[in-house]
Amino acid sequence: LAVEAVGEGFVNRRSWLPRDLRAYHRGLLLRLLTEQGPLTRRDLAETTGLSVPTVASIVAELCAAGHLTDTVPPADAPVTRGPRASVLDLARDSLTVLGVDVCASGLRLGLCDLSGTVSELSIVDAPRRRTARAVLSLAVEAARPLLAAAGDRLLGVGVAVPGPVDPQGRHSLLALPLGWRDVPVAEHFEAALRIPAVVEYNVRAMAVAEARHGLGLHAENLLHVHLGKSLGIAFVVGGRPFHQGAHGVPELGHQRVVERGRRCSCGEEGCLESVLGEDYLRQRLRDAAPRSAILADRAAREEPVLDLLDTAVRDGDGEAAGILDDVITHLSTAIGTSVNLLSPARVALGGDLATAPPQVLGRIVEATRAKVSQVVRDRVRIERSALGRYPGVLGAGTVALDRLFYRDHEPLTAPGRPAQRARRRPEPTRPGN
Ligand SMILES: [Zn+2]
Repeated sequence: LAVEAVGEGFVNRRSWLPRDLRAYHRGLLLRLLTEQGPLTRRDLAETTGLSVPTVASIVAELCAAGHLTDTVPPADAPVTRGPRASVLDLARDSLTVLGVDVCASGLRLGLCDLSGTVSELSIVDAPRRRTARAVLSLAVEAARPLLAAAGDRLLGVGVAVPGPVDPQGRHSLLALPLGWRDVPVAEHFEAALRIPAVVEYNVRAMAVAEARHGLGLHAENLLHVHLGKSLGIAFVVGGRPFHQGAHGVPELGHQRVVERGRRCSCGEEGCLESVLGEDYLRQRLRDAAPRSAILADRAAREEPVLDLLDTAVRDGDGEAAGILDDVITHLSTAIGTSVNLLSPARVALGGDLATAPPQVLGRIVEATRAKVSQVVRDRVRIERSALGRYPGVLGAGTVALDRLFYRDHEPLTAPGRPAQRARRRPEPTRPGN
């Protein structure tokens, strides 16, 4: 294989062969139209630095495929400069992808179009202790009605999993909540559904969706934080998802923060995740209930754990106040450290944090800002995630669109192609190239 795994510390070789370069340029033009709305061919050429004939050639192809509309403005429309040029716009419903979010609690599936709208949502409970093959087969069967609804607009499928994946987005390398190790996820979907598939770490998929459709619109650097039963983070750096080197995902949740602390799902003791995860917080509430009249009544309620804590604190419960203080201390240290490391312009608080009560969210933001270096403090915005109710589905769909439609990543050298033939720099583009 000519592609050397990023995860093993090798240089990631890029291909600038004409075919790959053209796909990359096509992605650039599509991304511009997505973000800036209708543009002329000349606008596209000026913004990208591509020649007008190159733009015209790629645009012709995209119009023929139905991905762009080409409209001449009406004769009475004001013309700002130059001759009256036709305006290109993205046909946002011209295609769709299937997003599949695989969690320990179950599967969520939905169709996702170019505007980031999720439709045809389907939720499947996955009973525990199923094999990976059984879970994937369940997902394939749940996908069939959605595929039928998408018809020939369907481009492919994106799958989000809770753990690292290989650099090509084919395998789930390790997913502790699912008990998976080296599962060929993409192959399974491709063999069963006959469409291209890509798999991504779920929190990184959400970070990409946040950058394309949520808070990070036009922000090049972004941190997405997801708190639920576990704690995950992912960065978008320079507009692209950041893939960690040796292992593939950040393991902030498994940073030890309490010496001789509680046992974590990873086997170690005192991990951040073991003091912030939902199951642990509910256990602490139940343990405190005998000492608190307020909690005795409420600790077993089904409502979100941060809401439970918030109302108990506001009703004057000291036990709940202690637990919430711990949450805010640990979480603000974790997010503050992450902000200081890579200095993102935006921080999106997702998962249970996206729906946290305003007082709780306000305290987390305030405590985090206080722990961030002064020089960074005024330049970072920390807010609720804007991904809506199904961030994993939107994330998976967004990754599929990035890889299969926009080709946003620089093309990797294809397997089997000699690496030394790949050019290091793009050549000036010629007409029709
Ligand atoms: Zn751990």
